[in-house]
Amino acid sequence: MKLAQSQKSRINKWVKKWKKELFLDQWKIYVKYHDFNEKEDVPASCNPDSDYMFIDIHVYKSFWSFSLKEQESFIVHELCHCITESIASNSFDLLNGNLVTSRQLTKTIENLTQRIANIAFPGGLN
Ligand SMILES: [Zn+2]
Repeated sequence: MKLAQSQKSRINKWVKKWKKELFLDQWKIYVKYHDFNEKEDVPASCNPDSDYMFIDIHVYKSFWSFSLKEQESFIVHELCHCITESIASNSFDLLNGNLVTSRQLTKTIENLTQRIANIAFPGGLN
């Protein structure tokens, strides 16, 4: 399946818009297009790395069968994984028996909470 330049441009426009809205300015965001479906009912997925602040967003074939509004919401969802990555990482560490200290978990939760607060109420602390 050959993608039209306008399709990629639209995705780039949304990435740029939501990168700003979600305060992800320091993140490197890469979008990879696939002409197959990874899993049924999965139009997009991602691999965020919060240590090095980059994310690969994978857009699958079925993505294009959704409305523009739905497509944009999928991009927003994948970008939100940048925000939740630290708590997800802590959770999987705990599941896998790796050491996560109470202090580390508290810091992760407070950082995540403040990020959400900043998005919901930009300039709230100024
Ligand atoms: Zn997800």
